[in-house]
Formats: sequence, C-alpha cells, structure tokens
Amino acid sequence: MSPSSDPVTATAAYVTAPYAVEFRHVPLRNVGPHDVLLEVLATGICGYDMEIAGHLAAEPRPFGHETCCRVREIGSCVSHVAVGDTVVLESSAFCGDCAVCRNGRVDLCRNLLGIGAEPVQAFADVLVAPARVVVPAVGLHPTVAALAEPCGVAVDMIRLAEIGMTDRVLVVGAGPIGLMALAMARKATCGEVVAVDSNPGRLAVASQLGADAVYARSEAPLPEIGRRHGGFHALLVSAPPSSLPGAIAAAAYEGRVVFIGFDWGEGGKVTIDTTAMHLGKVQLRPSFASPALFLPMALDLLRAGVVPGETIVSHRFPLSRLGDALRTVASERDTTRKAMVIPDARFAELAGEGATE
Ligand SMILES: [Zn+2]
Ligand SMILES: [Zn+2]
Repeated sequence: MSPSSDPVTATAAYVTAPYAVEFRHVPLRNVGPHDVLLEVLATGICGYDMEIAGHLAAEPRPFGHETCCRVREIGSCVSHVAVGDTVVLESSAFCGDCAVCRNGRVDLCRNLLGIGAEPVQAFADVLVAPARVVVPAVGLHPTVAALAEPCGVAVDMIRLAEIGMTDRVLVVGAGPIGLMALAMARKATCGEVVAVDSNPGRLAVASQLGADAVYARSEAPLPEIGRRHGGFHALLVSAPPSSLPGAIAAAAYEGRVVFIGFDWGEGGKVTIDTTAMHLGKVQLRPSFASPALFLPMALDLLRAGVVPGETIVSHRFPLSRLGDALRTVASERDTTRKAMVIPDARFAELAGEGATE
C-alpha cells in the first residue's frame, strides 16, 4: 500500500518525574519508504520506563517500547509485514551493515535503530516506526505479545547461563524478567530451580511457575541458600547489583552468574571476592539485551505457554490512566508483575478479565 498523504495525529503520553504524565495531540511524521504506521494495541510498563518516570525525565518526554501493534500503513520498500498484521517492536535493532554485524556478531552492533528517538513512542494510540524494528507476531493476544521484548531479555539471560540438563538454578529477583527466566529455566533442567525475592506475592508466582523452593530475602542470605542446595550452576540475577557478591558465593564450582540489575549511582559499585571466583571457576556474565534480539523465539515461547503470558501480566490500564498505572507499579510491588497499557478506544475489547478499573 502506498503511503497516504493524510496527516495522522497521535494522542501520546509525555512523562515527567516523579510519575506525572501529560497527553499531547501530535501530528506524526510522514511514513517514509522504510517506515510503518502502527496502531498501538498494548504496551507494557518496563523497569526502564519506571526509571524515566521516577527520576530521569526532567523535561516532558515520550516513552514506552514494549509494544504490540497493528500495521495500518507500510512504506513502499517494506515487504516483511502487511497492513492488518499484528506485530511487536524491537526496542533497538542491529544495523546489518557495520563491521561487527558483517563479522557475524550482530549482538555487538552499536549502530542501533529504534523508536527511542521518535517524538511519539509506544505510550500513544498510533506511531511511526522504522520497519526494521518490526517483528510479525501472529497468534497471540496483544497483551501477551507485548511481552516479547522483555521475554527476549530473559532469553538472553538464559542463553548466557548455559543451563545444563541437571543444573541447579537460582533466580534472584522475581520481577517480570526473573519470572520469565524462571519459567524457561524450569524447562531447561531437571535440577532444582530456586527463587529469591523480598516479595511474598512474587514468590508465590515463582512457585506457580515451577520453582522447587522459594526464599524471602529476609529468610536467609544468598550464600546460605547456596549451601543448603549444594551450590547453583546457573544464577539469574535481575536484582540490584548489591545482590552480586552473595550470588557469587552461592555458586557451585564453575557456576555462571548472569545479571541484568543496574544502578545509575554508587549502588552500581560492589566488592566481589575474585579469589573465590578464581578458585571456584565462577563466572560473572552481564546480560545487556541491546540490540534487542530473540523476539521471534520469545513469541514462540509465549505461544507454547513455556512462558505463560497471562500469569506475567498482572494489570491492565487504559492509556488515559497511565499516570495511575505508573504509580501502581511503583507502590504495589507485591501484586504487580507486568502492567499493560491499552489505548482507551481498544480497552473494552482487549483488557478482558481482570481489567483494572
Ligand atoms: Zn523494556
Ligand atoms: Zn551493525
């Protein structure tokens, strides 16, 4: 379909810290030959969105990237999706042209393309995106498909952890990423899978997803949990960096500690026992899912129910109540896993059971 010349106006959210949202009516840029015009169906609130809304956004700024959309128009050079298709977006895509991409390491590409620079992002009703970040996502409910991007982050952790079929796995931090990683780890090993979090509600979900044991943070320090279970071969840490020394001490011989938790300030600096790591052959492996990879695999895991999307999604809000959604995620950690935001015109149709008033 050739791009129409009618300008499309988005209703888009702009956030300022702390947790204040304003809506603007913004004319979208023209759909270029390599772009798509998308109607937003559902967008998840991510930890990074919470950082922006909590303290990073001094000026009003657009946000939202974990999204499922329907294609409304495609540029003249776009062929991998068609009008009407349900799609998800990579938060950033590798370029395919630079030296590292051509050397086969697209995961190391730093010449990234995404919607992060667009004036309208996924907390909106429509947006224009580069076609290269668009991934077809048939056969899933939009609020489940919108988990593809964070599920891809969990896939990256699982891949780095190299879980063997009998390995014992410790999941530190049972937020959405940790829970999705736990669900995958459960399939990867017949060894014990154990979860730790400060939050009883999240631990209950970890049990539901197949954890053999769960611990509240206050119950036992990580090294002690390691001793009780004979040490862990794979440790999946989606928690603040202060968890890393304990996770390292909970590792079995040749354990792999994979982490994604970060802290912008001094909390990013921790002291680790390198001698114990050396003598225990313990490896610390940072997972940084940029560029965003593995979305087709994540969609398959969601379709297969290996990652049960309906369990991960805990809240649904109409776009007009995005501010309430952000404050809920910030204050109700016990019951909040992934909150989905749905444009108001679609809310009745897509929110389904369990919709938040
Ligand atoms: Zn995200
Ligand atoms: Zn590249």
